[in-house]
Amino acid sequence: MQNIISQLNEAQQAPVLQKDGPMIVIAGAGSGKTRVLTVRIANLMSQGVDAFNILALTFTNKAAREMKKRIADIVGNNEAKNLWMGTFHSVFAKILRIEGEKLGYPSNFSIYDTQDSVRLIGAIIKEMQLDRDIYKPKQILGRISSYKNSLITVKAYFNNPDLQEADAMSKKPRMGEIYQQYVERCFKSGAMDFDDLLLKTNELLNRFPDVLAKYQDRFRYILVDEYQDTNHSQYLIVRALSDRFQNICVVGDDAQSIYAFRGANINNILNFQKDYENVQMYRLEQNYRSSKNIVEAANNIIDKNKTKLDKIVWTANDDGPKIKVHRSVTDSEEGRFVASTIFEQKMQNQLPNGHFAVLYRTNAQSRSIEDALRKRDISYRIYGGLSFYQRKEIKDVLAYLRLVINPKDEEALVRVINYPARGIGNTTIEKLTVAANHYKRSIFEVMEHIDKIDLKLNGGTKTKLQDFVTMIKSFQVINENQDAFYLTDHVAKKTGLVQELKKDGTPEGITRIENIEELLNGIKDFTEGQKEIDGARGALAEFLEDVALATDLDKDTGDDDRVALMTIHLAKGLEFPHVFIVGLEEDLFPSAMSLNTRSDLEEERRLFYVALTRAEHQAYLAYAQSRYRWGKLVDSEPSRFIEEIDDTYLEYLNPADNGNYRYKPQMDIDIFGDIDKSKLRLAKPIASKPPAYLNTQANDKPNIRKLKPVSGIKTQGNTNLFDNNLVVGNIVMHERFGKGHIVSIEGIGADKKAEIKFDVGGLKKLLLKFAKLDVL
Ligand code: ATP
Ligand code: MG
Repeated sequence: MQNIISQLNEAQQAPVLQKDGPMIVIAGAGSGKTRVLTVRIANLMSQGVDAFNILALTFTNKAAREMKKRIADIVGNNEAKNLWMGTFHSVFAKILRIEGEKLGYPSNFSIYDTQDSVRLIGAIIKEMQLDRDIYKPKQILGRISSYKNSLITVKAYFNNPDLQEADAMSKKPRMGEIYQQYVERCFKSGAMDFDDLLLKTNELLNRFPDVLAKYQDRFRYILVDEYQDTNHSQYLIVRALSDRFQNICVVGDDAQSIYAFRGANINNILNFQKDYENVQMYRLEQNYRSSKNIVEAANNIIDKNKTKLDKIVWTANDDGPKIKVHRSVTDSEEGRFVASTIFEQKMQNQLPNGHFAVLYRTNAQSRSIEDALRKRDISYRIYGGLSFYQRKEIKDVLAYLRLVINPKDEEALVRVINYPARGIGNTTIEKLTVAANHYKRSIFEVMEHIDKIDLKLNGGTKTKLQDFVTMIKSFQVINENQDAFYLTDHVAKKTGLVQELKKDGTPEGITRIENIEELLNGIKDFTEGQKEIDGARGALAEFLEDVALATDLDKDTGDDDRVALMTIHLAKGLEFPHVFIVGLEEDLFPSAMSLNTRSDLEEERRLFYVALTRAEHQAYLAYAQSRYRWGKLVDSEPSRFIEEIDDTYLEYLNPADNGNYRYKPQMDIDIFGDIDKSKLRLAKPIASKPPAYLNTQANDKPNIRKLKPVSGIKTQGNTNLFDNNLVVGNIVMHERFGKGHIVSIEGIGADKKAEIKFDVGGLKKLLLKFAKLDVL
């Protein structure tokens, strides 16, 4: 342990070595805050603190997993396993499963995701016959969410004339009723939405002193990463739990507070010293992540903000290359700039895709980048789009599984009661909903007693409803006796979901079936993992909880080598050797909506600070002079943020020499598919050694993966290329099915399919357009 601690600098060691008492570490990006938390936990354990008594709250579950892995490396896996670690939502969902009955929730409560919540609000608005143009479901959910995060319950809402007036002024006088309906419907369904996980935890800790005492006693040491972005509800939970032992360590950076729009409260950092007695405040000043140019440019930017704590950030790292600024005429050209630069860098320096990240302000911007990367055949992954678990076919399967665990789950039920079609129409569902509301029961319970309630349904419909109930109950019996994998496989077939997709026959249908297979693989992994841990049968309920709280960052196992595309909000806490910040244009970044108040503009600036400080070695700032937005081509000005950086840190890639860009517009497709052959020839010889920055601290960096050789023509996942070249007899490698050989090929173009016999898994027919194949 001493050895690990000695790898920290003195300032970092201090908060590690102070065992007890409240402490706050405030420090700029890349100064080792997260690392301090990790070492602190390991050190506590090495001093005899039981892992069960430590609670660490992180921004993503992925961050928690990584932290746990590092701690396991130091103190051993068996010990680390017992740590309570995760996001606020995942940790407190677990506690609510144990204690929720006190609040009237079943331990198997469902977790509604945003889609579920929006649909339910939409249904309520319709039932109340309100104008959807005024009462926009997403917006309403946003309001409800902010009430919940400020601990304004329905009752508190109706006791607060100011809130009601504010809603009435914004033409939503019936907001309170919707809120009330929504809360009642969730409760009746035995469901919590994301915000409930925090709100109900607060309620639990407030109303039940014995429960509070129990968890205060359990969590004797509490640690919180990214403290600047906690909202009021989270703040109160931490405050309550740490009240007895006061062993609380929070780390954060006020300059990286970027979630105010979702209720994060910067005052949580500023007031920490007032909340506890004898708070030790630590500051870290040395940045280990980024080159000098990046650190200093970032300082330059954040200096422009008036509301901030004064901080010093410096680095002993090399100057590094200057930040490259690129102007393009259109957004698609911007995409091509990104793709060709990545391509060149990969060729010249033997870099894996995982060294590159493209960050943008809004999700919509990913399209032009994706198009260009695809043309260059560079694998990428988009984070924060529609996550795997939110795809329709996956949500359909999951809805059945949710019903198995909690048949009261109204959103799950409405989703699949007539999918695949079984002749239960909308009118029937409406009648069931009305009856359920009337009897204050769930729809499923109404269906169970359909014989005794007069809903004026014909005999055939009644039978169909009863069949559905019987089917779900039969799944419940299977769930008692078999593991989650077996059950899911059974559900996918028995409900007719898979047949439905097969009938569909389109490539999309096939992709959907593949996705369901992927889900089954995921469940298999999960159940196997469970068996390893405690020999238990794979617990479906636990899997569903994991899924409900998974963000797609969590899915990233780091196994496949892809360029990361994400919004800046998601990139918090991460680091990459090369970072592109694209769309640096006025009205886009800073966003048009932020230009009215200083505080909004300052939040945008902090966002830019976060973006820039993700880069270790090279940052690129890109802007376009025109861009398609809302279907129209609009002219745009470069972002003020570029101008705010001192020119000494910047290199302009296109000086005013009339478009004589460093890169040439792409030489388009030829018979080699989308590979730009001329570029292959022009590329400088492959460096014999990786660049120097790869050698330094390589072991410390979670996201520097093993270098993969970049070979000339064969590129990973280049389906179009192989589409042309594949012949019967080729030995291929599939991302999931492994090795196999091609038995036959049929069809042309996008419809071309190959029948492949895989060593494990047997014969499969794959659409080449989608199959991820490598020829061996
Ligand atoms: P952010 O504000 O972006 O969340 P952070 O303050 O949490 O950043 P870390 O992610 O903990 O910073 O550290 C940044 C990088 O510097 C990591 O790669 C980490 O391993 C490395 N690092 C931190 N401290 C040291 C050190 N003492 N010696 C070497 N490398 C270090
Ligand atoms: Mg961090």
